[in-house]
Amino acid sequence: MELERVDNYKGISVKVLLDSGAMGMFVDKKFVEKNSFKLEKLERPVRIQNVDGTGNSGGLVTHKIEVNVYYQGHVERMKLDVCNLGRAEVILGMLWLAAHNPEMNWETGEVKMTRCPALCGKNREKKEKRELKKRRGEQEEEEAIRWAVDKKEDWEKEEEMEIDHK
Ligand SMILES: [Zn+2]
Repeated sequence: MELERVDNYKGISVKVLLDSGAMGMFVDKKFVEKNSFKLEKLERPVRIQNVDGTGNSGGLVTHKIEVNVYYQGHVERMKLDVCNLGRAEVILGMLWLAAHNPEMNWETGEVKMTRCPALCGKNREKKEKRELKKRRGEQEEEEAIRWAVDKKEDWEKEEEMEIDHK
């Protein structure tokens, strides 16, 4: 998978772990620092939660980054929570898996994006068009794909409400 910084469109290849035991979408802190991503501070820290409702040893998330993600012609604007992962650079959990429902070949480890919602589309053309414009020195407003981001924000809101009640 390729991540792209939204500020300078610099692409970086990443190792991604699909983890149905995790809830959200995460990026490793050291990886973020190494590639100088722009950090966005969360309004309030969010507790990392596993799908089974247990707490994650990663603790509280205080920052996130926004990236464009490219994989097999699939493109998506994504917000990733920054925490210590260690075992991968990016972890995509249940929210992402449920949203895109990728086709997995458990034997070969191959993942195909064949069942994405219409919003994801095959946006390779759009990327190429933008790169062409960039080469010409034109500016273009990036059209964000909001689905996963919106879902994730809903989830964060719920998470916050849960914290409020305690
Ligand atoms: Zn998709």
